[in-house]
Amino acid sequence: MTTPITFETEPCGRCGGTGRLEQYGHVAGGVCAKCGGSKVQLSRRGRAAHRAYELALDARLGLRADQVEEGQVLNEDGRPRCIDQIETETTTTGMAITGDLRTVTVIRFFTRQDNGRYGSAHRPESRVRRYDPQVEAEVAAQIAARYSGATLAAPAT
Ligand SMILES: [Zn+2]
Repeated sequence: MTTPITFETEPCGRCGGTGRLEQYGHVAGGVCAKCGGSKVQLSRRGRAAHRAYELALDARLGLRADQVEEGQVLNEDGRPRCIDQIETETTTTGMAITGDLRTVTVIRFFTRQDNGRYGSAHRPESRVRRYDPQVEAEVAAQIAARYSGATLAAPAT
């Protein structure tokens, strides 16, 4: 699913909207590091709208990695990912002799089609989002109505 909202952009301030920096031709082929070659950056209004959109999505769909339950569908780069299995791994690091021991907890999410091979590791407090296109569309409509720097994308056909 594509983002249901677009944000106002302006020509990149570093490369002047060309996407390239000739004086850095020896670095990454001269592609502008700020805009990544896209030639644009968010305008002031676009940035404000984008921040509000992200905050609203976090408020409606965000949760901590340690709150995720098996069977929940998370949003991974805009695509649904069903979390079929969760493993929590706690390891202790440091030196006992100095009393400098710390426990580190890592939460691993597995999806059935991975055949258990690939998991993704998360800190317990890291933020993830549930996948819910309906809520995303609602939030997009609210932000586009309230912020001049946001425009509702045309509905997908
Ligand atoms: Zn640029």
